[in-house]
Amino acid sequence: MAYDFDLFVIGGGSGGVRCARIAAGLGARVGVAEARFWGGTCVNVGCVPKKLMVMAAEYGNHTADAAGFGWGVAATDHDWTALIEAKNHEISRLNSIYTKLLTGSGVAVFDAYAKFIDAHTLDVGGKIVTAERIVIATGGKPTAPSFPGAEHCIVSDDAFYLPQRPERIALLGGGYIAVEFAGVFAGLGSKVDLVARQPLPLRGFDMDLRTGLAEALDVNGVNLHLGSGVTSVTENGGVKTVHLANGTTIETDLVFAAIGRTPATDGLNLGGAGVATRPDGAILVGTLGVTNIPHIYAIGDVTDRLNLTPVAIAEGHSLAEALYGNGPRKWDLDRVATAVFSIPPLATVGLTEDEAAKHGPVDIYISRFTPMRHTLSGRSRKTMMKLVVDQATQKVVGAHMLGEDAPEIMQGLSIAINAGATKADFDRTVGIHPTAAEEFVTMRTRTRVAGTLAAE
Ligand code: FAD
Ligand code: NDP
Repeated sequence: MAYDFDLFVIGGGSGGVRCARIAAGLGARVGVAEARFWGGTCVNVGCVPKKLMVMAAEYGNHTADAAGFGWGVAATDHDWTALIEAKNHEISRLNSIYTKLLTGSGVAVFDAYAKFIDAHTLDVGGKIVTAERIVIATGGKPTAPSFPGAEHCIVSDDAFYLPQRPERIALLGGGYIAVEFAGVFAGLGSKVDLVARQPLPLRGFDMDLRTGLAEALDVNGVNLHLGSGVTSVTENGGVKTVHLANGTTIETDLVFAAIGRTPATDGLNLGGAGVATRPDGAILVGTLGVTNIPHIYAIGDVTDRLNLTPVAIAEGHSLAEALYGNGPRKWDLDRVATAVFSIPPLATVGLTEDEAAKHGPVDIYISRFTPMRHTLSGRSRKTMMKLVVDQATQKVVGAHMLGEDAPEIMQGLSIAINAGATKADFDRTVGIHPTAAEEFVTMRTRTRVAGTLAAE
């Protein structure tokens, strides 16, 4: 049967755009549908606007810190509208770059919602389209809370378009988004409360990072309510009250629920194509994103594995090369570095101390210090760096950092760790002085030993 397209991609976000563009470049006839915003979550309501807002918050801190270096400047009130307008302008520029990239590669672009009719046929904004292969790259959406009064909460999509900065905000959740926006709003002058059900934020990250982050949030004036769930939110005359399971209440102006994301599959009519999902809607996939239907694939957040932009891009790129090129590019998705753009940020690659210790004894190296900038600024801000070294092989199996420039530093370090560098390789590397990063190659004294044999 002749199909309209060799490949049709549903979703014009990080993964979908890369997959469509590479496949078209390799000669396939490709179409892509995007229902809402080209570039997807990352460009419009994710990584990019988030990082611009974190930068805005840090400018206030930098301005205050400048006095310690002799500058007679003072931060005035922050202009929220100016920030949002500048951010929106940049996002529009990126949206048009994405569509130009696609059309320039010969991809047929549809500004429409797509859903399955059958396993080779789609309804794309009312137009019937057939394709030999279909890629589902529809991403996710913020999970809505389900407690009484959930309608009084906003989610991350809304936070990027608030008409004004709230004087008081309560963030619900202890994950990436909650801690990143705690930094944004506290830095811009709001009174911030953060409510998380774990005893420390960022479950799954190394314990020393989690502890250090909680201390840093506290130093930044964020009121932490840890180890407590939310039972309800009520509203009275514009004032919102968050009721916690432990009986306390928080009065605030805005409640921002950041309790995870849900795969965007509910309107796709996956049943029409026979595509299998988990109960929460995440598409089940095997190697290269193949679903249970051999010519239908899923990539990125809609599969809910490692929900990060570079992972979605790597998956889209590999799939296109596997289908239309000379085999897929190899990406190492086992040890993906990740960063949380809190203030200060943190970044990590490889195993946490607890994970590594399950496999045997590990040597732990930790360095804590005041960054040079803050010896004069007077700001109370610490940096923490940590290496987790497998005692048997001496390979560095994990690196963790909380402190300024952590994401920039960890990107380079992740190459060494993915290449299997040992502690001896780190030790024979000459540092760059004066930097914070040099500390990663000068840690000589083991802080402790952890792991099964260590405990015996
Ligand atoms: P998306 O980028 O979500 O793209 C999916 C696209 O499909 C969307 O544009 C959607 O409109 C479209 N779509 C959905 N259904 C249909 C349909 N039926 N028809 C047509 N179109 C459809 N990751 C990082 O690596 N670093 C960060 O700093 C970072 N910060 C983040 C901050 C926030 C606030 C959020 C929410 C996420 C952040 N992420 C970050 C995660 C990152 O944004 C995602 O991992 C990434 O966007 C996933 O790409 P994707 O292609 O799978 O999906
Ligand atoms: P996360 O999965 O990071 O964190 C969700 C948080 O919400 C956790 O603290 C979780 O607690 C809590 N939670 C979940 N369900 C409930 C509930 N019913 N009631 C109360 N608390 C709840 O999700 P985010 O929304 O912060 O971010 C979504 C994803 O987007 C991230 O996982 C990440 O993949 C991506 N992202 C990446 C960023 C980056 O790379 N810098 C930045 C922002 C997002 P518990 O731990 O107890 O489950």
